[in-house]
Amino acid sequence: MATSALGPRVLLRRLREVMAEPVTAQKRLDKIVQIIAANMVAEVCSIYVMRPGEVLELYATEGLKREAVHHSKLKSGEGLVGTIARQAIGLNLPDAQQHPSFKYLPETGEEIYNAFLGVPIMRGGTVIGVLVVQNRTRRHYTEEEEEALQTTAMVLAEVIAAGELREVASEVAADVAHVRSHHLRGDSLAEGVALGHAVLHEPRVIIQNMIAEDVPKEKRRLEDAVAQLRAHVDELLDGSDAQRATEYSDVLETVRMFAHDKGWVSRLREAIDTGLTAEAAVERVQNDNRARMMRTPDPYLRDRMHDLDDLSNRLLRILTGAIATASRTDLPDNAIIVSRNMGPAELLDYDRTKLRGVILEEGGRTSHVAIVARALGIPAIGQAAGLIDLVDTGSPIIIDGGTGEVFVRPSTDLQRAYAEKVRFYARKQAQYAALRDQPSVLKTGGRIELNINAGLIVDLPHLHDSGADGVGLYRTELQFMMATRFPRLGSQVRHYAQIIDQAKGKPVTFRTLDIGADKVLPYLRQPKEENPALGWRSIRMALDRPALLRLQLRALMLAGEGKPMKIMFPMIADVEEYKRALEVVEIEKAHLLKRGHVLPSPLKLGVMIEIPSLLWQLDHLLPIVDFASIGSNDLVQFLFASDRGNPKLAGRYDPLSPAALGAMRLIVEKAEKHKKPVTLCGELGGRPLEAMGLIGVGLTSISMVPSAIGPVKAMVRSLDREKLWKFMEPLLNSPLHTIRPDLMEFAQRNGVVL
Ligand code: PEP
Ligand code: MG
Repeated sequence: MATSALGPRVLLRRLREVMAEPVTAQKRLDKIVQIIAANMVAEVCSIYVMRPGEVLELYATEGLKREAVHHSKLKSGEGLVGTIARQAIGLNLPDAQQHPSFKYLPETGEEIYNAFLGVPIMRGGTVIGVLVVQNRTRRHYTEEEEEALQTTAMVLAEVIAAGELREVASEVAADVAHVRSHHLRGDSLAEGVALGHAVLHEPRVIIQNMIAEDVPKEKRRLEDAVAQLRAHVDELLDGSDAQRATEYSDVLETVRMFAHDKGWVSRLREAIDTGLTAEAAVERVQNDNRARMMRTPDPYLRDRMHDLDDLSNRLLRILTGAIATASRTDLPDNAIIVSRNMGPAELLDYDRTKLRGVILEEGGRTSHVAIVARALGIPAIGQAAGLIDLVDTGSPIIIDGGTGEVFVRPSTDLQRAYAEKVRFYARKQAQYAALRDQPSVLKTGGRIELNINAGLIVDLPHLHDSGADGVGLYRTELQFMMATRFPRLGSQVRHYAQIIDQAKGKPVTFRTLDIGADKVLPYLRQPKEENPALGWRSIRMALDRPALLRLQLRALMLAGEGKPMKIMFPMIADVEEYKRALEVVEIEKAHLLKRGHVLPSPLKLGVMIEIPSLLWQLDHLLPIVDFASIGSNDLVQFLFASDRGNPKLAGRYDPLSPAALGAMRLIVEKAEKHKKPVTLCGELGGRPLEAMGLIGVGLTSISMVPSAIGPVKAMVRSLDREKLWKFMEPLLNSPLHTIRPDLMEFAQRNGVVL
C-alpha cells in the first residue's frame, strides 16, 4: 500500500484524467471508484450520495455487488455510513462488524470484509456523501491513507456539486442543503418584512482547479498568500483599517494568532504535498476544521474555529483573486444581505435602492449594524446560526424582522402569505402616513410630544416623513464609531451643522459622547475591564479626559451659533458629576466668546437619568438642569442588574413592572415639583403598549425609533389618560412581576389602538 505522498498525487492525477473524459456521470463515478480501489489497494471502494430526506444512496462501487447500486440506502445516523454522515467524522475500523452501529445490508455482499475506512464528503460545511474503502484483512488504515481518502473526498465533492449527477437522478445529493427549504429563527434586530434574494456579503469562493500540476509552484503561491494575509491582519489590528475592525476587534487578536500559527500553515503545506493546488489545500484543511467545529460542544472553541474559518476564506480570496464583499457588485432588486457579522459602515456601503434586509449569524440588538438597519428602515435579524451554509447568492429568502424568522427557499404558499403580509405592512404604513399631519393629542385632550431618536444623517429625513416634533436623542457617538480616526473639530462642526440644517427648525437634543461598554472607538485605546457596562465609560471618561468633551462642546456650539440648542449628558451618577460637566461648558463658552463667536441661544443643558442613584438626588439635581431625559434602556438594566444585551435575560424583567414604572412615576412627580420638562428616550417609548404605560405615569414627551411614531400616535389619539392612571395607580403598589397583561386588557376594553 502506498503510504508516501506520491500515492495521493498519482491518484489525483488519474482522477483529473477521468474528470476530463467525455463520459456520462455514472461511468465517471464507476471509473473513480475503480481508480481509488486500485490506488489504495482496497478490495472495495464505494460512494454514497446524500439524497433528499437525509438518505444516503449507494451511487457507485468497486467490490460490492453491482445490483446494490442505487438500491442500498441508509438514513443519516444509520449504520457506519450514516454515522459518518451524521457526525461529519471519519471512521477507521479494523473490524467493522464489531462496531455497535454496523448495519448489515445483505444485497451488498459485504460480510466478507472486515477493515473499513470511511470519510464524509463535505461541501460548505454540509455532508453531501460518504466515501468508503474496505479490505478483507483486519487492519488499521494508516494516517496517510486516511488523509489520502479525505483529499479524494474533497475532489469528489466538486464532481457531485457540479451537478453532473443530475443525469443519474433528478434531484441530487449535492446540494440537499441548497435545494431544500429551511426555516430558522434568530433575534429580531429591526422590524419589517421583506421577500427577496440572498446576497452573501462575502461571496463564496469557487475553486476551479483542485489538482496541482506543479507542486513547488503551489507552495510558493501559498507562501505569498499567507504573507499577504498576515500583513492584512496586522494592518487591521494596528488600526489602519479601523472602520472594519470596529465590530471585530475582540476576535481579531485570535485571528492574528491563527494567521501566525505555524501548525495551520504546515497543515496547508502538507495538503499541497498530497497533490492539491494551494486553494484546494486551504479548503481541505478548512473542511477538517469545520468537521471539528460541528463536533465540539464548547461554544467558546466553536467561536474560535469560526474565526479560523473566516481566516481561511480570506486566504482563499487572496489566492483566487475573488472580490471581498458584495457591496460593489450588481445587486438584485430585492437584496437581502447575509453575513456572519458586519460593521455599520459596511451596511451603508450597499445600494440603498435595492437593499431590503440584512441577516447576521451573529450580531445582537444593541450592535451598531442593528442601529443602522433600524435607521435605514429595513428588517434585520441577528443570531441566525448556520444560515450561511444554507444559502447561495440568489437563493429566494424571506425575512420577518418582527418574529426573527428567516425562510430560505420558501414554498410558493409561504411566499404568497408573506407577500400579503408585506402589503398589509404597506397599508398600515399608509394609514400611519395619513396620521402624519394629525396632532398628537389624547382622546380627552392634552398634547403628547413625540420625537425621534437618531444618530446618523440618514435618520433625518424620517423626522419629516414621520411628522415627529423633533429629535429627542441624537446619539453623537455613531459618527465617532464609524470614523477611522477621531473626528477633528471641523468635521464635527460640519456634521452637527448638517443635522441642524436638515432638522429645518425642529429641535434636536444632542447627547455628548457616550462611549464605552459596547460602544467602542477602534482608534481609542481603552483598558480591558471586568465590567465594561459599569466601567470607565461615557461621562466618566469625558470628565477624566476633558479635552475630548471640550472639543465636542465647542463643535456643537459652533454649529449652533445664534440658534436654539439642546445638549444633554449621559450616564450621570451624581449631582457633582453634572456640575463638573456644566463647568466644562462654561469654559468652552468663555473660549468661544473670547474669539468673537456667538453662542447658541437659548442653550439648554440637560441630564440623562439612566443610573438609579439619581432617583434619590432629584431634589438637588433638577433645580440645576434645564431638562431631564430618562434613558430607560440603561435605567432598567441597572435597576434590575440585568445586562441589556444578554439574550438569556431578555424578557426576564419587565419595564412594565411596578418597580420600573414606579421609578418613572417618581421622576415625573419630581420634575413637576421643580417645574422642569422631562422626556424619555429609551427603546421603550417606541412600543405602543409600553408608551401607553409611560403616558399613564405622567410622561408627556417621548422619543423613539422613527418607524414607531405612527403606531404610537395612533395609540395616543385613542387614549384617555386620566382613566388609565386611575386604573394603574393601585397596580403600581402591588407586588406583581409585571402589569403588562392588565395594561393589555385596559387597552382592549377601552378601544386603545395598539
Ligand atoms: C438609554 O440608555 O435608554 C439610551 C437612550 O441610551 P443608549 O441606548 O444609547 O445607551
Ligand atoms: Mg444609555
